[in-house]
Amino acid sequence: MPNLEPSFDYIIVGAGSAGCVLANRLSADSAVRVCLVEAGPEDRSVLINTPLGIAGLLRGRRYNWAYETQPQAALRGRRLYWPRGKALGGSSSINAMIYMRGHPGDYDDWAAEGNPGWGWQNVLPIFVQHERQQHGADALHGGDGPLCVHDLVDPNPLSLAFVEAGVQAGLPRCSDFNGPAMDGAGLYQVTQHDGRRWSAARAFLDPIRQRPNLAVRTECLATRVLFEGRRAVGLRVRGHGRECDLSARREVILCGGAVNSPQLLMLSGLGPGAHLQAMGIATVADLPGVGANLQDHLDVTLAARDGTAAAVGVGFGTLPRLLREALKFRKQGCGMLTSNAAEAGGFARTRPGLERPDVQFHFLPTLLRDHGRKLVWGYGYTLHVCQLRPQSRGRITLASPDPGVTPRIDPMYLSHAEDLGVLRAGLRLAHRILSAPAWQAFAANRREPCPDMRDGAALDAYIRGNAETIYHPVGTCRMGADDAAVVDSRLRVRGVGGLRVADASIMPNIIGGNTNAPCMMIGEMASRFVAEDAQTG
Ligand SMILES: Cc1cc2nc3c(=O)[nH]c(=O)nc-3n(C[C@H](O)[C@H](O)[C@H](O)COP(=O)(O)OP(=O)(O)OC[C@H]3O[C@@H](n4cnc5c(N)ncnc54)[C@H](O)[C@@H]3O)c2cc1C
Repeated sequence: MPNLEPSFDYIIVGAGSAGCVLANRLSADSAVRVCLVEAGPEDRSVLINTPLGIAGLLRGRRYNWAYETQPQAALRGRRLYWPRGKALGGSSSINAMIYMRGHPGDYDDWAAEGNPGWGWQNVLPIFVQHERQQHGADALHGGDGPLCVHDLVDPNPLSLAFVEAGVQAGLPRCSDFNGPAMDGAGLYQVTQHDGRRWSAARAFLDPIRQRPNLAVRTECLATRVLFEGRRAVGLRVRGHGRECDLSARREVILCGGAVNSPQLLMLSGLGPGAHLQAMGIATVADLPGVGANLQDHLDVTLAARDGTAAAVGVGFGTLPRLLREALKFRKQGCGMLTSNAAEAGGFARTRPGLERPDVQFHFLPTLLRDHGRKLVWGYGYTLHVCQLRPQSRGRITLASPDPGVTPRIDPMYLSHAEDLGVLRAGLRLAHRILSAPAWQAFAANRREPCPDMRDGAALDAYIRGNAETIYHPVGTCRMGADDAAVVDSRLRVRGVGGLRVADASIMPNIIGGNTNAPCMMIGEMASRFVAEDAQTG
């Protein structure tokens, strides 16, 4: 590893959504030295920069951990594919760019569960501070933050028709899912600028990359947090053909995401005692909650062919169309390649009396099979519906004490009886939207499998046979005040000193929306806690 300075004040593990924010904020103090350690490479790739490049990113492994779950008993024993970002920017470098904060009530729930300072009124100013909203600032939006939030440059005609169909099916029209009310159908806003991806790395890392007190180490895998007694004092890293130890005078902060942060804690001797013992790892702190409380948005789709060929697809004219679009994208930053794939969608309540929407739609003007890994000939569309607040809880455990071995990911989807019913109701709602008049021009050619919506058993079978992740795992280093919590409300790991976790894993409950902006907010909160605690010693 070239020029590796061994001694820092703060070491951040993982340059993802949260880690980039932390690196920016902590290194703003020129008196401290910060090291940002990232297992993946630099993010200079045309696939990352070009929004529609997501199709290639999900297929490849260079910027993607490309995990697989354990066989899921409630999903016919299927293993589900779990892409996660592995590059500067983390998952924000391979995601679908939808900008969403979630429902205010979700954060108030976090606060009510023993996490003071995490209520909506506390976190809203951070979302606003981060945002550079295309339409300017107002009470709920920021106008001059580092994170560009824009309308889609060139939404597909099918996405526009989906919104109309949603309205005809009874959903309110929603022009701002981060506005006063999130119920309804609409086009998503995206983290893009001039039609290009605007990841956490673009927003928070690029502008400060030259700071002399910040070292960014790419292609370096953190393999263990090093302790002196019960205090974290450094990090073992592996990369560029060698292994070495970095020392952290003040803190090590884990931002590896919902799979890797609990893995690294366990590799370092923090986790369920019996499990660590079984893995032959000496226990530093017996923390039964590490890896537990895994939550994700399980998602099921309806897909159909589109006879108009307006969708994004593969046909006889694809190559010349692609060349034309590439030129357009390069010269003017517009056209099909600016599509984030999941262009439209919405939020709905599957039954009366609910306080918040319980399902979310993602509409893709393309036929998607196996996360885009399987090429489909022809044109079509895919409507996703996911349950926003599942009751099922899974777990991450080690498969091996070797840091190079993928941990066991067991989301235990649909292990709670209520979850299947919400997805079933969500599917019926999705079908209603696709049966609305605005959709009929595209629906003429329907040929994809579609269950009988009146037959509950057929719907359940369809869900069990087809549901997939919509990529929002959280909760595996849960924040809370009880003994099973992994971090306290200042994100300090319980039972040890000098160690925090700040990423999707700290969410006590999954929020009702996409998780990128919330993870950046978590990174900001962590940076404040670190700075305040450094003041008070
Ligand atoms: C395909 C996909 C589509 C998505 N679409 C959207 C969307 O449209 N909108 C939205 O809001 N959310 C979306 N999400 C979810 C969102 O992007 C993530 O929830 C969020 O980025 C997670 O942030 P994080 O900070 O927890 O972790 P990540 O951003 O995943 O960052 C973790 C980083 O840590 C690194 N790392 C892990 N372990 C180690 C180690 N041992 N040593 C060194 N480095 C390590 C990883 O390589 C990675 O770079 C999507 C996610 C995916 C995968």
